[in-house]
Amino acid sequence: MARGTPRSRPKGRLLDDDALAHVQDVLGPRPRRRDLLIEFLHLFQDLDGHLSASVLKALAHEMRLSEAEVFEVASFYHHFDIVKEGETPPPQLTIRICHSVSCMLAGAEQLLAAVEAGVDPGAVRVLQAPCVGRCADAPVAVVGQNAIGHATAERVIAAVQNGETVAMVSNARRLDDYRDAGGYDLLRRVSAGEVTADHLTAALSDAGLRGLGGAGFPAGRKWDIVRKMPGPRLMTINADEGEPGTFKDRVLLEADPHRMLEGALVAAHVVGVERIYVYLRDEYPGIRALLIEEIAALAEAGLLTTPIDLRRGAGAYICGEESAMLESIEGKRGLPRHRPPYIAENGLFGRPTLNHNVETLFHVREIAEKGAAWFAAQGRNGSKGFRSYSVSGRVRRPGVKLAPAGITLQQLVDEFCGGMADGHLLAGYLPGGASGGMLPAHFADHPLDFGTLDQHGCFVGSHAIVVFSQADDPRAIARNIMSFFAYESCGQCTPCRVGTEKLRMLMDKDVWDEALMREVADVMRDASICGLGQAAPNPMLSVFRFFGGARA
Ligand code: SF4
Repeated sequence: MARGTPRSRPKGRLLDDDALAHVQDVLGPRPRRRDLLIEFLHLFQDLDGHLSASVLKALAHEMRLSEAEVFEVASFYHHFDIVKEGETPPPQLTIRICHSVSCMLAGAEQLLAAVEAGVDPGAVRVLQAPCVGRCADAPVAVVGQNAIGHATAERVIAAVQNGETVAMVSNARRLDDYRDAGGYDLLRRVSAGEVTADHLTAALSDAGLRGLGGAGFPAGRKWDIVRKMPGPRLMTINADEGEPGTFKDRVLLEADPHRMLEGALVAAHVVGVERIYVYLRDEYPGIRALLIEEIAALAEAGLLTTPIDLRRGAGAYICGEESAMLESIEGKRGLPRHRPPYIAENGLFGRPTLNHNVETLFHVREIAEKGAAWFAAQGRNGSKGFRSYSVSGRVRRPGVKLAPAGITLQQLVDEFCGGMADGHLLAGYLPGGASGGMLPAHFADHPLDFGTLDQHGCFVGSHAIVVFSQADDPRAIARNIMSFFAYESCGQCTPCRVGTEKLRMLMDKDVWDEALMREVADVMRDASICGLGQAAPNPMLSVFRFFGGARA
């Protein structure tokens, strides 16, 4: 086309009138706010089973966003299926077979093959999926939204045939029962000034309560820092646990959602935040339904002293990183931010933000009621308080164990898990999920707490303990984890994006090139923006250090 010649039609895809009508119909009177983009994408994914190119174009038009912005967000998240013109939409039903560490140990690969062989590929899509947060029930398959633990191909296929595809949470303590047991009295006393902000933050500090999403930052200090920032302030709750091996937040929320909600409302009052955002991972649809009901019940009872927005993740592990989570709540791709500034100063929508993990908030009421000294005294080996350990792998009774901070692996297995599973001898363990490295059996008497394992290249993080035995191959575990990180790298920085993929390929070889792999790991640790890239090589380095090095 000659320079200056007018185009006969606009550049790019044409707006489809039917798609625009569909978008306007589905969105209805909802405000077309940018931060709601991911919520809107979920509406169409749920309704249509995919996101067509014409709907994305119409959504961009309706929200006054560029098409590129909408496409880049939709394509970032694993749970959105974009279907371009001429492509065939996926089948309405998807089965996700978890293939992260605990499920791998329990035979996920064989399960995947058997399920694939047993379903009609035209009617059902079968995918390998990263950790779905049910490691104690490995192997796990999710049929639609219905998670099936200890899955067999027969049970999975029967669920498909019977249309059992809906998530259910049935045993949660609801608002009335929670209040009957003294629930929301702390919120009343804090709101009435009977318990002061200074008293409560001091109690959290004396109790030794740490952030239990993985970083372990002292909770009382965090409250103090944020409440001294100029308002308006916001609060976020990170319920996006995606670290393979971690499932404690799910178990806590399924049992007693108001423990977290009361802790959040109390924190919001003390810190003076104007709105709370709960970011819940998409793998927990039953909890989403539960929280919608219980937050509505709180509002009806006049107890919702700070408004709560429930936001839905979309299958991106990196959004468990706090700054990536903020980006996602703002309706963007979950790309971790550079720091400083820290989110306590400049967080969600540019405001000072108090961010907490679910479990941290769970402990607030009990510390206020029973006292800081009582909580602190629960620890062992110099540590303070309780921790909820997610234990999976080769133990007799896996699950979430409320146990002392600082307990050793041996004590945890013997006292809380009924010992090792039949036929299995302890060979090693992951002390902190996929990113926390691996330790051999002779480290079983080391206390599990923040900072106790650093000198061995490991950390406890979210306290996800995966126990493995003589029947398992540490190299295969490390390889599985590297594949996970390669899949979940957000791609923002080269050391992580390329490094995870390069290491994954090097780990596929029979003999590992230790010098080259260490060199790549050094670059990743030194130059990656966030913890994913920095920690991804940890299990591989543990193999070199403790489990026989480069050769199988
Ligand atoms: Fe993204 Fe990895 Fe860089 Fe983190 S380290 S910002 S996950 S590419």
